[in-house]
Amino acid sequence: MSVARTLLLKASNSKWLREHGTKAPFVRRAVSRFMPGESFDDMLVAARAMAAEGITAVFTRLGENVRDLAEADGVAGHYLEGIDRIRGLNLACEPSIKLTQLGLDIDRELAYGHLRDLAARAHAAGNYLWVDMEQSSYVDVTLELTRRLRGEFPRVGVCLQAYLYRTREDLVELMGRGIGIRLVKGAYNEPVGVAFPRKSDVDANYVALAQVMLEAGSRAGGARPVFGTHDVQLIDTIRRHAATIGVKPAEFEFHMLYGIQKATQLRLAHDGASVRVLIAYGDYWFPWYMRRLAERPANMWFVAKNIFG
Ligand SMILES: Cc1cc2nc3c(=O)[nH]c(=O)nc-3n(C[C@H](O)[C@H](O)[C@H](O)COP(=O)(O)OP(=O)(O)OC[C@H]3O[C@@H](n4cnc5c(N)ncnc54)[C@H](O)[C@@H]3O)c2cc1C
Repeated sequence: MSVARTLLLKASNSKWLREHGTKAPFVRRAVSRFMPGESFDDMLVAARAMAAEGITAVFTRLGENVRDLAEADGVAGHYLEGIDRIRGLNLACEPSIKLTQLGLDIDRELAYGHLRDLAARAHAAGNYLWVDMEQSSYVDVTLELTRRLRGEFPRVGVCLQAYLYRTREDLVELMGRGIGIRLVKGAYNEPVGVAFPRKSDVDANYVALAQVMLEAGSRAGGARPVFGTHDVQLIDTIRRHAATIGVKPAEFEFHMLYGIQKATQLRLAHDGASVRVLIAYGDYWFPWYMRRLAERPANMWFVAKNIFG
């Protein structure tokens, strides 16, 4: 793992930096590259603009490790209202949430209660509910609650991280239950005991897992195979493999983040691939933004340009 990535991921957990760094105007300018604004309405404007370009959306309000009951209730309320508003607008825009945002650190049943309410509302609206994946210490509980949810609602998916050694086993088991999988490389600082330390190994594992996800047997239960990546080479490899084994472009999806590889998003949509873009918004953006910088330390140039430019 590069030193820059390690430092940026450590900084993402710093309370001091979160409280002080986020006030600097140059940081706020730099972050706007990755998010259209702090409000739900800002997100809607971006989602509608993308819809006009043939790209659908996923929305997430930034936040994690909520330790206050009222705040967790507020987050759940925000998403419930959001799902209703999207239904009213007839927009293809799916919610994606972090369990620690719904109070998982306070009480697991509290978080499940909120999760269940969101899945019920999404189900009633003909929508789909995505569950994000956080640090490795949360994987077991996240998967356990997602399986439970799938027992009650059909349109549920979860994010799995290719950097974890355990992911192949999880992936096969979850797809067998008809749970959608959004495969990503993984955004956190993980110990070598649980995750591949070398990027080349993560990339190789991603390809191997993608092949499993595209197999007819994996998709038989109706699970959505989603590839959450901006890695153009990887995307091309997946598309070529799908074509070789006769999987149609409509049978799998690519999800990317707002503001990253926009040209690739448009090219894929133009080529007939299914593309969704995850739009994050909200005022709790510091740890999330630091993880975006860690993914590509060259992004530090954008920060520098905003300081001096
Ligand atoms: C839709 C979606 C949902 C996600 N959800 C989760 C989640 O729930 N849990 C989790 O751990 N991780 C999540 N991630 C983040 C993911 O784990 C990776 O950290 C991130 O996607 C970068 O990896 P990559 O696959 O794009 O490949 P990389 O090899 O990191 O990047 C490939 C290329 O993409 C471009 N690129 C990638 N990241 C950036 C960036 N930040 N800024 C500018 N260019 C960039 C660069 O050109 C880079 O060379 C999600 C990612 C996506 C796209």
